[in-house]
Amino acid sequence: MTVPDIQRVTVLGAGNMGHGITEVAAMAGYDVTMRDIEADLVADGYEDIRWSLEKLAEKGRLDESAEAVLDRIETTTDLEEAVADTDLVVEAAPERMDLKKDIFGDLDEFAPDDAILASNTSSLSITEMATATSRPERVVGMHFFNPPVKMDLVEVIYGEETADDTAETAYEFVESLGKTPIYVRKDVNGFVVNTVLGPFTDESAWMVSNGEATIREADAAMVHRRGYPMGPFELADLTGIDVGYHVRKEAGRPIPPITEEKVENDELGRKSGRGFYEYEDGEGVNYEPGDGEEFDTLRVEARMINEAARLVGDDVATPEEIDTGVKLGLGFPEGICRRADKIGLDAVLDKLRTLREETGEDRFDPDDYLVELVEQGRTGEEAGAGFHEYGGSGGDGPGDYRLLNYDLSEDGLLAVELDRPERMNALSGDLLGEIDDLLSSVDTDEVRCVTFEGAGDRAFSAGADIGGFADMDPTDAMDVTPAFETVNDFERPVIAKVDGYCLGAGLELALACDLRIATEDSQFGSPEIGLGLIPGGGGTQRLLRLLGETRAKELVFRGNRIDADRAEEWGLVNRAVPESEFEDTVSAFVEDVLEGPPVGLKVAKKVMNEGADASLDAALAMESQGFGLLMSTDDVREGTAAFRDDRDPEFTGE
Ligand code: NAD
Repeated sequence: MTVPDIQRVTVLGAGNMGHGITEVAAMAGYDVTMRDIEADLVADGYEDIRWSLEKLAEKGRLDESAEAVLDRIETTTDLEEAVADTDLVVEAAPERMDLKKDIFGDLDEFAPDDAILASNTSSLSITEMATATSRPERVVGMHFFNPPVKMDLVEVIYGEETADDTAETAYEFVESLGKTPIYVRKDVNGFVVNTVLGPFTDESAWMVSNGEATIREADAAMVHRRGYPMGPFELADLTGIDVGYHVRKEAGRPIPPITEEKVENDELGRKSGRGFYEYEDGEGVNYEPGDGEEFDTLRVEARMINEAARLVGDDVATPEEIDTGVKLGLGFPEGICRRADKIGLDAVLDKLRTLREETGEDRFDPDDYLVELVEQGRTGEEAGAGFHEYGGSGGDGPGDYRLLNYDLSEDGLLAVELDRPERMNALSGDLLGEIDDLLSSVDTDEVRCVTFEGAGDRAFSAGADIGGFADMDPTDAMDVTPAFETVNDFERPVIAKVDGYCLGAGLELALACDLRIATEDSQFGSPEIGLGLIPGGGGTQRLLRLLGETRAKELVFRGNRIDADRAEEWGLVNRAVPESEFEDTVSAFVEDVLEGPPVGLKVAKKVMNEGADASLDAALAMESQGFGLLMSTDDVREGTAAFRDDRDPEFTGE
């Protein structure tokens, strides 16, 4: 759905970002004009869009043809024509303030008075750009991440003079693209995401420069022990060592010698064949899981957390926004504020103070807000509050959850959504904990049926969040979460709605459900063996019981995927249906369960689950016991009376 105030969008620049932003806006239904300074640049950008749209269409991820989207895109080299009747301009020209100011000056002259003028800059001041116009209240930052088609996050940045309605319309526009916006309420250098990211590479580079660690140690530790998607040096090589260097230089911050040296020698990362690792003449990134045992990860994380505290204390962003930002923009395994609350803010503060004393470096000065939180006793999860509030859970009803959403309808449907689309709903310890907490604390009298589904359009759940495995004590790993058993034993029928990948721990969650309905495009598998592991959430045993030994062993031993048709043939799912019939099929199952007798269904689930593991004699005894128990219920009286009167029964669960 498009935003009513915005019909025509103009994108300036057909480069990396410009063509991507044009593509997502056209996909959302906007008419877009893309402008660059030369005809062949515009033509290249247009061809990049065509290529990308065709790929999306091939994967079934477009609702219309690539041509239909392309029809909404016009290209030009003429600025005046490009903005003559536009409602929103997104500037994505090279990152130079003089150039950006020229462009904003021209926009002020040629764009309609009420048009919103946005910049995709990643590091320059929105406030300063706005001074080139006579309408700074209509200027706003709209920072997409690379590549815009894939990355979900957009920072919406207030310049000093930006009007609320400008920022709000920009925010709604981003939502209408199917992306997640976060507000950056003040025009701080680095905005939110890059501010938090800064110390990740910076502190690691200081440690290497000082001879306190090696590049491989830092990367291995941050990836294998702390679960970050890439190590700090691996990341710097990918984005270009010069990029971060220039941003820091402009901001007047000291640069670690090792970074200075790389830039001087023109060893800028992958693009120059050599950076912190050797790409052209070497094996590239080459750290191993065990390399980072000695590395002081808290030193790096404490500085990132300190930056997050500064952002909150200065009212730039809330902890929720920061956490959303780093998860969607950087692929962090969890929000940095959430992580801080787990580590304990007192431990973070101690670390910063000790480092400040030992080194005399002011980059370790603890931020006032962090000090304030600790002084107030808000030291994190254990204390019940830190950046975030905790509690609310623990036996007295469901709490506030971060990684899942749920809704309990009046007729008793508890619809649960795994909400980590940026990680394809991977099951982390926290998410499993929330599932366990929800089903353990919800009032079962209010619930008649549960459904589980994954947020986003790619996965039910693509597996376990394996970051941090190497850091785990083997005895902790064997202490398997109770969440799968809680789902399996929940007193009401549980249905898995599978649309997309259902792999590893995701498959184990689906197996713990009673019924499974899938879209035709879904894929199933237990890839654990490829990591040298086996399914650890009941997968080996539930697959065996459900599919028989032949098929279960094929899935577990080979570790490959099967499609939904085969899953249906094997009895892994109840139905595999086209996307268009998915919701109706699920509703039909849900309605039957909601209208069914709650006690009857509870007893049926129990005797079937437990009977499957008992001898036939014992199982038959369980069944007759259950049968006898049900005979005395109101529901059975109601069921038989309704049958006699030829009407629909109304079960009460008594
Ligand atoms: P790019 O060099 O790939 O593309 C910039 C394009 O703008 C070029 O094609 C250039 O010819 C064109 N251009 C120059 N002057 C112009 C003008 N006056 N009007 C219209 N077009 C003009 O650069 P990019 O990577 O797409 O970056 C563009 C902006 O997006 C920068 O501000 C950058 O900081 C920001 N950004 C980049 C990334 C990234 O990862 N590349 C991520 C987020 C934001």
